[in-house]
Amino acid sequence: MIFDAHMHADTRPIENFMEMNMAGVEAILTCAYDPLRMKKSNVTLEHFDRIVYDEPKRIEKHNIKVYAAVGVHPRAIPDDYENVIEKLPKYMNEEHVIAVGEIGLDEITPKQEEVFIKQLQYADENNYNVIIHTPRKNKAKVTQRTITLLDENINPQNVQLDHVDNSIIDMLIDKDYTLGITVQPLKMSPTETVEMLDKYGFDKFVLDTDISYAPSNHMALAEVKHKLIQDGYKKSDIKKVMSNNVMKFHNL
Ligand SMILES: [Zn+2]
Repeated sequence: MIFDAHMHADTRPIENFMEMNMAGVEAILTCAYDPLRMKKSNVTLEHFDRIVYDEPKRIEKHNIKVYAAVGVHPRAIPDDYENVIEKLPKYMNEEHVIAVGEIGLDEITPKQEEVFIKQLQYADENNYNVIIHTPRKNKAKVTQRTITLLDENINPQNVQLDHVDNSIIDMLIDKDYTLGITVQPLKMSPTETVEMLDKYGFDKFVLDTDISYAPSNHMALAEVKHKLIQDGYKKSDIKKVMSNNVMKFHNL
């Protein structure tokens, strides 16, 4: 089985999910982010309603279990974002909502840091997992700052730090975080993903497609699995990165 550990299902046509299930995907985690400008909190909350209540109905018809994460994305901070944080408990109480996310820093600004820290503290108080965004631009510098804020505000065992690539892996590999490799055009290719697993081992990683409105490949995890089998990696290791590690991280 394949568990896609981070995506944005609401931007993708249903045909993607049919094909993904045919290729072995049986569970996904769909995260909140910035599909609209989110100037006011009511827009963010409508987005949460869609991913928490509507997407499972749409996608589970294709034999894929839908889990969700909700949070204020750093590129989509409404003026009245505090209203969103106040309403998080309503969503977090749903059984299939398993993390706060995606949250983090896209740039190092006082506003993004303030919103990020508040959500980390909320997650930490409630022992919730968090799905952490790292950006494309200034990746190493922003990730360094992200690590500092994580270490100050949350139990590292509850952190899935995502979009890990060769520019940041060395600052992360010795942390107690779960590390997400995003197999997506402009992020990691299937070949680079296999090389990273080969070099750093299979224990700390989960895999995701981050399919969204950006260039994406909904078949990417099936491609990685195919390549790992072809290259002769152990079945137990393949299982770890395809599903076991993410299920263990979320206690599923
Ligand atoms: Zn994402």
